[in-house]
Amino acid sequence: MGRKLLVSGNWKMNYTHLEAITALQALDVRLNRSLLAKVDVSIHPPFTALRSVQTVVEADDIPVMLGAQNCHFEDKGAYTGEVSPSMLAKLGVQLVIVGHSERRTYFHETDDDISRKLSAVLRNKMIPMLCVGESLAEREEGATEAKLESQLRGALAGIDRKSLSDLVVAYEPIWAIGTGRAAYPDDAEAACRHLRSVLSQLLGSELAEQIRLLYGGSVDPDNTAELVSNEDVDGVLVGGASLDPEKFAAIIKQAASTG
Ligand code: PEP
Repeated sequence: MGRKLLVSGNWKMNYTHLEAITALQALDVRLNRSLLAKVDVSIHPPFTALRSVQTVVEADDIPVMLGAQNCHFEDKGAYTGEVSPSMLAKLGVQLVIVGHSERRTYFHETDDDISRKLSAVLRNKMIPMLCVGESLAEREEGATEAKLESQLRGALAGIDRKSLSDLVVAYEPIWAIGTGRAAYPDDAEAACRHLRSVLSQLLGSELAEQIRLLYGGSVDPDNTAELVSNEDVDGVLVGGASLDPEKFAAIIKQAASTG
C-alpha cells in the first residue's frame, strides 16, 4: 500500500511535567532519525506536561507530533476546569484524541459531545483522533460492527467531509484496553475494514482510503508487526507500553520496518 504508519502513545494521567521530559528524552535516545522518517509518531502527555514536552521536542528537534488526550468543544467560556482546543493549538498541539472509551465510560461523553469536540479540533486546525470500540458483551452478542458504525456516524454527523482528510480513527475494543489481551490481528483487520467501508459510505471511497485507521488495546513490541501488517490497520494507539521508553521505541521500530 506504500502507506506511512502512525504510532501514537497515550500517556493518560501519568507523568508530571518533569517525568514527561525524562520519558521523552529516554525515548529519543532509543530512536534514530532515519527510523523516524519511516513512521509518524505522536505522543499525548497530560495537559500539565504539554508545554514542557513541546519545548523539548522543539529544542532537540525530535520528529514526534505533539498530541493531547481530550479538549472541550468551546474555544473559551465559563467551563471551570476545562481546556479549550484553541489553547491546545496555541501550544503547538497537532493531534487531539476524542471519544476515548475512558472518557465515554467515566465522564459519560456521548456521541453528540464527541462530535462537537471533533468539530472544535478541526476548527482549530488540529487533527482529531476519534476512538471507537465495542465492549466485551457487545462482541459476544455479535454487535461489534453495529456499535462501530453507530459511533462513527454519531461522531461525524454534520461535519463537513472536506475537512476530514487528515482524520485518524482508532479502533479500540474496550475489552482489550489495559488488559494484556489484544485483539487477534484478523479481528483488528476485520473491524478496521468495516470502519473503512462505513467511512466510504459516509465520505466517499477516495477520502475513506486516506483516513488512517489505528488499532489500540494492549499493543506491545511482540504483537505490533502482525497487527500493522494488515492492509486496513495503518498504525497503533498505545497506552501502557508507551510509558516504557524501551517498549515504545521497540513498537516504533516494528512499525517502521513493517509499514
Ligand atoms: C488506550 O487506552 O488507548 C490503550 C490502547 O491502552 P493500552 O495500550 O494500555 O491497552
